[in-house]
Amino acid sequence: MRLSVPFGHRKNVVGILLDVNENTPPDISQNQGKTVKLRHIHQVLDTKAALDADILELCQWCANYYHYPLGEACHLALPSLLRKTEPSTQKPQALWWQLTPQGQTCSAETFGRAKKQLQAWECIKTLTALSPEQAKSKEISRTTITTLIKKGILETVPAPQSQTTSLTTQTETKKVADTPLTLNEEQIKAVNSIQMDRFTTYLLDGVTGSGKTEVYLQAITKAITNGKQVLVLVPEIGLTPQTLDRFEKRFNVPILTLHSGMSDKQRFATWESAQTGSASIVIGTRSAIFTPLSQLGLIIVDEEHDLSYKQQDGMRYYARDVAIIRAQKKNIPIILGSATPSLETLHNALHGRFRHLQLTQRATSAPLPKIQCVEAQDDHLSEEVIHAIRETLDKEQQVLVFINRRGYAPTLICQDCGWISQCNHCDNRMTLHQPASQRPQLHCHQCETKTPAPNQCPNCHSHRLQPLGHGTQRSEEQLNQRFKQTPILRIDRDNIRRKGELENALDTINSQQPCILVGTQMLAKGHHFSNVSLVVVLGLDNGFFSSDFRGSERMGQLLTQVAGRSGREKHSGTVLLQTQFPEHPLLKQLIEHGYSQLATQLLAERQLGNMPPYEYLALIRCHAQQPNMAAGFLQQARQLAENITPANADVQYIGPLPAIIEKRNNRYYYQLQIKATNRRTLHHLLGILCSQLEKQRAPRGLHWLTDVDPQEM
Ligand code: ADP
Ligand code: ZN
Ligand code: ZN
Repeated sequence: MRLSVPFGHRKNVVGILLDVNENTPPDISQNQGKTVKLRHIHQVLDTKAALDADILELCQWCANYYHYPLGEACHLALPSLLRKTEPSTQKPQALWWQLTPQGQTCSAETFGRAKKQLQAWECIKTLTALSPEQAKSKEISRTTITTLIKKGILETVPAPQSQTTSLTTQTETKKVADTPLTLNEEQIKAVNSIQMDRFTTYLLDGVTGSGKTEVYLQAITKAITNGKQVLVLVPEIGLTPQTLDRFEKRFNVPILTLHSGMSDKQRFATWESAQTGSASIVIGTRSAIFTPLSQLGLIIVDEEHDLSYKQQDGMRYYARDVAIIRAQKKNIPIILGSATPSLETLHNALHGRFRHLQLTQRATSAPLPKIQCVEAQDDHLSEEVIHAIRETLDKEQQVLVFINRRGYAPTLICQDCGWISQCNHCDNRMTLHQPASQRPQLHCHQCETKTPAPNQCPNCHSHRLQPLGHGTQRSEEQLNQRFKQTPILRIDRDNIRRKGELENALDTINSQQPCILVGTQMLAKGHHFSNVSLVVVLGLDNGFFSSDFRGSERMGQLLTQVAGRSGREKHSGTVLLQTQFPEHPLLKQLIEHGYSQLATQLLAERQLGNMPPYEYLALIRCHAQQPNMAAGFLQQARQLAENITPANADVQYIGPLPAIIEKRNNRYYYQLQIKATNRRTLHHLLGILCSQLEKQRAPRGLHWLTDVDPQEM
């Protein structure tokens, strides 16, 4: 239960009551040799436990594994409304109404001569739930509703998260659910392999367009028929209207979503109806893994390799891994799906820890597109590519141009003195942005500083300033010049900000008219564009030279995913990769033999280099106003660690080293890498090290944290 407690100088902080010890002396207790003064609780905020037992258990696991304070782990699991010290009686109002079990089984006689109630009941019977708008349009008054609630015929339910008008109309037709597709042999094998009554981790390893979603849907059907709830995790930008639509069309049960774009109230309402069991399916991004679901019977993690499952600040948990732990504790199946599984997951599958289910063919009989290289020195669309685009448009088909860089150009440079647009606060170049009908600007993508772009060089006053490199805006401009008659849609974070903008763009795409889409990662994931038959990939060359040991893996995943958007239905697809390095061995491996062969080779390299998944990694990350302060702290941490595990060959330290971008927003980022051959050794060490580091007072302005299984170095 939540409590309002005094903490330090603060009067009202939300605390969580974990246990009651009746033997504690009233005033003073001993804690690790220190005398602790007890203080009075101000108020008990809840009447029932705010955290279900299994969520609390999950928090405890996280606190242990990620070496993070339990209290903060618990706070993370609570919806933000409950992190404030208002009693939960001030619940936001539930807005929709649905029939209770009694209301579903009763007959017209129940209402006697109450005609309005009878009419209301008959109307609501045809719906999954009644919204206030529907009540109005059907002339069902609040008095009638209140009476029906009192009679136990109706109950209030939280409004579904997407309260758009389209959903309101959908609800009325919802009773006619989509029929399941007839599965192909590989899909049947996959669905049949999934046992609902025990914990097993399944890797659903299926090429792009192989019908993984259909396997999810049919596994979900099994769970729901057993009266269970299902939790589906999707990547941050994977929760597209299209995905949601597919689920809503198939199932005749309440589906709720949880994602970062929601208001606190919406989140809370969703959280509550998940907890009470009135939501059968919850679809959400990373933090949805902490949703309380008392009847949970199946977890699905779609695109399990996606980096957005890793929290990059605070408690740096990996939602995919937490999901596996949750399934294990609950003894239920979990499905990890991907066309490009992470090396960690593949390793687990190859060693029999996960069950490997494979879908090797596209479900629509369309062949997988082959990637062809077009050699070019930069990201200016080459004539060969322009020609291919024209041909595609002439066939009334659509083109997707992928470039993973926002803005117009990543750098502005002076041709006379060599000045470059460096950010004053970061080790980072500022990107030139040229928003339509506005002055060009320089943006730092690290610290979000924005300044008007100079007209002349700040250093030598020359007017010969030149944008260097290409971002989405520049590619869009080039395409506009070459294809004046064709709609060109740019999809990136600058252009798609408001809710609804992506939907609008998707509407154009779904209208099937010939058009060109230019965009970043936002376009690469999960979408099913049936009329896209040409995919052009630009700006991937940096991936070959990444200083992160996961660089090649990520590039292979990205390229495979983007390529997979091509030719998914009617037309066979083409993928053109414009690159300076068509002969690069990793690229050739990927193109000639596919992702799984590349992954096998990368795994062998990891084994040789003693890197994850063969060994276990953690970082102590630290940032401070001065570089030597951060490095000094980590040097001390290293010494402490070396004292804890004297002459231990199983543990290796690298660093302290500056992070890949050392200076960010005027702070200096350093890290100490700790690697162990054995997971237990690593955690034993981290446990002691963290508590020692916590006891010392870190210098003012210095922040440090532990990153277990770091995903970005
Ligand atoms: P993935 O998630 O593996 O990329 P999808 O689930 O999006 O693939 O499926 C790709 C396309 O194949 C969709 O249009 C889907 O409707 C279709 N599809 C899936 N399974 C079947 C099937 N058994 N028979 C016919 N079409 C299918
Ligand atoms: Zn200059
Ligand atoms: Zn900056």
